[in-house]
Amino acid sequence: MNFESLNLRPELLKAVTELGYENQTPIQERAIPALIAGRDVLGQAQTGTGKTAAFALPLLEKLDYSQRSVQGLVLAPTRELANQVAEAIYQYGKHLGARVLAIYGGSPYVRQIKRLESGVHVVVGTPGRVIDLIEKGALDLSTVRYLVLDEADEMLKMGFIDDVETILRSTPDDRQTALFSAT
Ligand code: AMP
Repeated sequence: MNFESLNLRPELLKAVTELGYENQTPIQERAIPALIAGRDVLGQAQTGTGKTAAFALPLLEKLDYSQRSVQGLVLAPTRELANQVAEAIYQYGKHLGARVLAIYGGSPYVRQIKRLESGVHVVVGTPGRVIDLIEKGALDLSTVRYLVLDEADEMLKMGFIDDVETILRSTPDDRQTALFSAT
Protein backbone atom coordinates (compact mmCIF):
# COMPACT_ATOMS: atom_id res chain seq x y z
CA MET A 1 0.00 0.00 0.00
CA ASN A 2 1.18 3.49 -0.77
CA PHE A 3 1.17 6.44 1.63
CA GLU A 4 -1.54 8.45 -0.19
CA SER A 5 -4.20 6.05 1.07
CA LEU A 6 -3.48 7.09 4.67
CA ASN A 7 -4.83 10.61 4.20
CA LEU A 8 -1.92 12.07 6.11
CA ARG A 9 -1.43 15.81 6.38
CA PRO A 10 0.04 17.00 3.05
CA GLU A 11 3.23 18.16 4.82
CA LEU A 12 3.84 14.62 6.05
CA LEU A 13 3.14 13.05 2.69
CA LYS A 14 5.55 15.53 1.13
CA ALA A 15 8.32 14.60 3.57
CA VAL A 16 7.80 10.89 3.02
CA THR A 17 7.80 11.35 -0.75
CA GLU A 18 10.99 13.40 -0.60
CA LEU A 19 12.63 10.58 1.36
CA GLY A 20 11.78 8.29 -1.53
CA TYR A 21 9.31 6.10 0.34
CA GLU A 22 6.76 4.64 -2.07
CA ASN A 23 5.06 1.78 -0.30
CA GLN A 24 4.46 1.15 3.37
CA THR A 25 6.40 -1.62 5.05
CA PRO A 26 4.34 -4.39 6.73
CA ILE A 27 4.68 -2.89 10.23
CA GLN A 28 3.63 0.50 8.87
CA GLU A 29 0.57 -0.97 7.13
CA ARG A 30 -0.57 -2.50 10.36
CA ALA A 31 0.42 0.12 12.93
CA ILE A 32 -0.24 3.47 11.24
CA PRO A 33 -4.04 3.16 10.72
CA ALA A 34 -4.52 1.82 14.26
CA LEU A 35 -2.47 4.62 15.80
CA ILE A 36 -4.21 7.27 13.73
CA ALA A 37 -7.52 5.82 14.91
CA GLY A 38 -6.33 6.46 18.47
CA ARG A 39 -5.74 2.88 19.56
CA ASP A 40 -2.83 1.67 21.68
CA VAL A 41 -0.47 -0.55 19.69
CA LEU A 42 1.94 -3.28 20.64
CA GLY A 43 4.29 -3.95 17.74
CA GLN A 44 6.94 -6.57 17.24
CA ALA A 45 9.55 -5.17 14.89
CA GLN A 46 13.30 -5.24 14.42
CA THR A 47 15.39 -2.24 13.44
CA GLY A 48 15.31 -1.84 9.67
CA THR A 49 11.61 -2.68 9.28
CA GLY A 50 10.43 0.92 9.20
CA LYS A 51 9.15 0.97 12.77
CA THR A 52 10.25 4.55 13.39
CA ALA A 53 7.93 5.91 10.70
CA ALA A 54 5.24 3.51 11.92
CA PHE A 55 4.97 5.40 15.21
CA ALA A 56 6.33 8.80 14.13
CA LEU A 57 3.91 9.55 11.30
CA PRO A 58 0.78 9.09 13.46
CA LEU A 59 2.45 11.10 16.23
CA LEU A 60 3.21 13.97 13.85
CA GLU A 61 -0.29 13.73 12.39
CA LYS A 62 -1.79 14.27 15.85
CA LEU A 63 0.29 17.11 17.26
CA ASP A 64 -1.22 20.55 17.82
CA TYR A 65 1.48 22.78 16.35
CA SER A 66 -0.10 25.91 17.78
CA GLN A 67 0.92 24.71 21.26
CA ARG A 68 4.59 24.58 22.16
CA SER A 69 4.16 21.94 24.84
CA VAL A 70 5.60 18.44 25.02
CA GLN A 71 2.83 16.38 23.40
CA GLY A 72 4.86 13.40 22.19
CA LEU A 73 7.35 11.43 24.25
CA VAL A 74 9.48 8.61 22.87
CA LEU A 75 11.57 6.54 25.29
CA ALA A 76 14.57 4.71 23.85
CA PRO A 77 17.24 2.58 25.56
CA THR A 78 20.37 4.25 24.20
CA ARG A 79 21.71 7.63 23.28
CA GLU A 80 22.37 6.41 19.72
CA LEU A 81 18.79 5.27 19.22
CA ALA A 82 17.41 8.45 20.81
CA ASN A 83 19.44 10.57 18.38
CA GLN A 84 18.50 8.45 15.40
CA VAL A 85 14.78 8.53 16.22
CA ALA A 86 14.82 12.28 16.92
CA GLU A 87 16.51 12.89 13.57
CA ALA A 88 13.94 10.71 11.77
CA ILE A 89 11.02 12.51 13.46
CA TYR A 90 12.59 15.85 12.56
CA GLN A 91 12.87 14.77 8.91
CA TYR A 92 9.26 13.52 8.75
CA GLY A 93 7.99 16.63 10.54
CA LYS A 94 10.08 19.35 8.97
CA HIS A 95 7.35 20.76 6.71
CA LEU A 96 5.07 21.00 9.74
CA GLY A 97 7.64 22.87 11.80
CA ALA A 98 7.75 20.10 14.40
CA ARG A 99 10.18 20.88 17.20
CA VAL A 100 11.97 17.72 18.29
CA LEU A 101 14.58 17.31 21.03
CA ALA A 102 16.76 14.32 21.92
CA ILE A 103 17.76 14.14 25.60
CA TYR A 104 20.21 11.64 27.02
CA GLY A 105 22.85 11.30 29.69
CA GLY A 106 26.51 12.12 29.21
CA SER A 107 25.89 15.50 27.63
CA PRO A 108 25.49 18.83 29.43
CA TYR A 109 22.11 19.69 30.92
CA VAL A 110 22.26 23.36 29.97
CA ARG A 111 21.59 22.97 26.26
CA GLN A 112 18.78 20.46 26.76
CA ILE A 113 17.14 22.66 29.41
CA LYS A 114 17.39 25.76 27.19
CA ARG A 115 15.76 23.91 24.29
CA LEU A 116 12.99 22.66 26.60
CA GLU A 117 12.40 26.22 27.83
CA SER A 118 12.08 27.46 24.26
CA GLY A 119 9.31 24.90 23.67
CA VAL A 120 9.35 21.52 21.93
CA HIS A 121 6.58 19.28 20.62
CA VAL A 122 8.36 15.94 20.84
CA VAL A 123 10.98 14.68 23.28
CA VAL A 124 12.98 11.56 22.48
CA GLY A 125 14.95 10.47 25.49
CA THR A 126 16.64 7.79 27.49
CA PRO A 127 14.77 7.01 30.72
CA GLY A 128 17.46 8.17 33.18
CA ARG A 129 17.89 11.61 31.67
CA VAL A 130 14.13 12.06 31.26
CA ILE A 131 13.76 11.47 35.02
CA ASP A 132 16.64 13.83 35.82
CA LEU A 133 15.01 16.61 33.83
CA ILE A 134 11.60 16.00 35.43
CA GLU A 135 13.27 16.24 38.85
CA LYS A 136 15.01 19.46 37.87
CA GLY A 137 11.64 20.91 36.95
CA ALA A 138 12.77 21.36 33.34
CA LEU A 139 10.53 18.73 31.75
CA ASP A 140 6.77 18.73 32.24
CA LEU A 141 5.03 15.60 30.97
CA SER A 142 1.52 16.62 32.02
CA THR A 143 0.71 17.60 28.42
CA VAL A 144 1.88 14.34 26.80
CA ARG A 145 -0.81 12.80 24.62
CA TYR A 146 1.24 10.25 22.71
CA LEU A 147 3.86 7.99 24.28
CA VAL A 148 6.16 5.53 22.52
CA LEU A 149 8.33 2.87 24.12
CA ASP A 150 10.90 2.02 21.45
CA GLU A 151 12.95 -1.17 21.86
CA ALA A 152 11.01 -1.86 25.05
CA ASP A 153 12.71 -5.25 25.42
CA GLU A 154 16.13 -3.54 25.48
CA MET A 155 14.94 -1.06 28.09
CA LEU A 156 13.84 -3.98 30.28
CA LYS A 157 17.16 -5.77 29.76
CA MET A 158 19.07 -2.65 30.70
CA GLY A 159 17.17 -2.36 33.98
CA PHE A 160 15.12 0.70 33.10
CA ILE A 161 11.81 -0.77 34.25
CA ASP A 162 11.48 1.37 37.42
CA ASP A 163 12.43 4.52 35.55
CA VAL A 164 9.97 3.74 32.76
CA GLU A 165 7.18 3.18 35.30
CA THR A 166 7.99 6.47 37.03
CA ILE A 167 7.87 8.27 33.68
CA LEU A 168 4.56 6.62 32.74
CA ARG A 169 3.10 7.87 36.02
CA SER A 170 4.16 11.42 35.11
CA THR A 171 2.03 11.37 31.95
CA PRO A 172 -1.78 11.64 31.77
CA ASP A 173 -3.73 8.37 32.08
CA ASP A 174 -5.62 9.00 28.86
CA ARG A 175 -2.51 9.32 26.69
CA GLN A 176 -2.14 6.99 23.73
CA THR A 177 0.64 4.38 24.00
CA ALA A 178 2.66 2.52 21.36
CA LEU A 179 5.12 -0.14 22.44
CA PHE A 180 7.67 -1.61 20.05
CA SER A 181 9.87 -4.55 20.85
CA ALA A 182 12.13 -6.81 18.81
CA THR A 183 11.04 -9.89 20.75
P1 AMP B 1 13.75 1.80 10.94
O1 AMP B 1 13.35 0.37 11.01
O2 AMP B 1 12.67 2.70 11.43
O3 AMP B 1 15.06 2.05 11.59
O4 AMP B 1 13.92 2.19 9.38
C1 AMP B 1 14.90 1.57 8.58
C2 AMP B 1 15.16 2.35 7.29
O5 AMP B 1 14.09 2.21 6.38
C3 AMP B 1 15.36 3.82 7.47
O6 AMP B 1 16.49 4.21 6.71
C4 AMP B 1 14.10 4.45 6.90
O7 AMP B 1 14.38 5.71 6.33
C5 AMP B 1 13.69 3.46 5.85
N1 AMP B 1 12.23 3.37 5.61
C6 AMP B 1 11.24 3.40 6.55
N2 AMP B 1 10.03 3.26 5.97
C7 AMP B 1 10.24 3.12 4.64
C8 AMP B 1 9.38 2.92 3.51
N3 AMP B 1 8.06 2.83 3.64
N4 AMP B 1 9.96 2.84 2.28
C9 AMP B 1 11.29 2.92 2.17
N5 AMP B 1 12.17 3.09 3.17
C10 AMP B 1 11.67 3.19 4.41
